[in-house]
Amino acid sequence: MDALEARYRHLLDALAGAAPGRAPVLLAVSKTQPAGAVRALAALGQRAFGENYVQEALAKQRALADLALEWHLIGPLQSNKCREAARHFDWVQSVDRPKLPPLLDRERPAGRPPLNVLLQVNIDGEASKSGCAPEAVMALADQVAALPRLRLRGLMAIPAPHPEPERRRAAFARMRRLFETLRAAHPGCDTLSMGMSEDYPLALAEGATLVRVGSALFGPRPPKP
Ligand SMILES: *Cc1c(COP(=O)(O)O)cnc(C)c1O
Repeated sequence: MDALEARYRHLLDALAGAAPGRAPVLLAVSKTQPAGAVRALAALGQRAFGENYVQEALAKQRALADLALEWHLIGPLQSNKCREAARHFDWVQSVDRPKLPPLLDRERPAGRPPLNVLLQVNIDGEASKSGCAPEAVMALADQVAALPRLRLRGLMAIPAPHPEPERRRAAFARMRRLFETLRAAHPGCDTLSMGMSEDYPLALAEGATLVRVGSALFGPRPPKP
């Protein structure tokens, strides 16, 4: 077993153990990793991959077109990238303002299933971070749910990187409550995306259904090309 496979098995075990009977999804974050690393992980059975930059993702997708993979856009989305995002991804996890849903809806090709959408929430109110305010979630959710080419699936967050884990845990707990409120109005929502290499066990303990893991899976990231 090589190092990649060992890290992958370890993560799958951690996911199964942290949430017995819940089967949380592992999203493999492949930003800055070469297409060969994605191919190697796909050969072990991984299907869902997350990318931050649209152009980088498109190049990788072309190199891996022979594989049936599921691509998630998890980086900040600019309106001038909505066309490519809607055409080349299965999920967009970073919808955070009213301008984006109509653009994604308009650009989603008719022959493909509706685009899966998560609303990104700036749960710690950080000035420099993407994401909508928690108070804005419901209106944005209603907007997405009303568009035929989009499918509202839930919420995504990147809590502030507090060194004390308990501070992060509190942010994950606030996300869980927000997700429950959202589900009361939109019962089709099934995805709470939170937790990365450093803190996925805490996120799972607070109800994450999808964790986004990069370096704990692929090893340290090569610099952005
Ligand atoms: C890079 C990134 C991750 C993965 O980060 P790691 O610490 O390498 O696991 C997860 N989510 C988002 C939004 C990212 O940008």
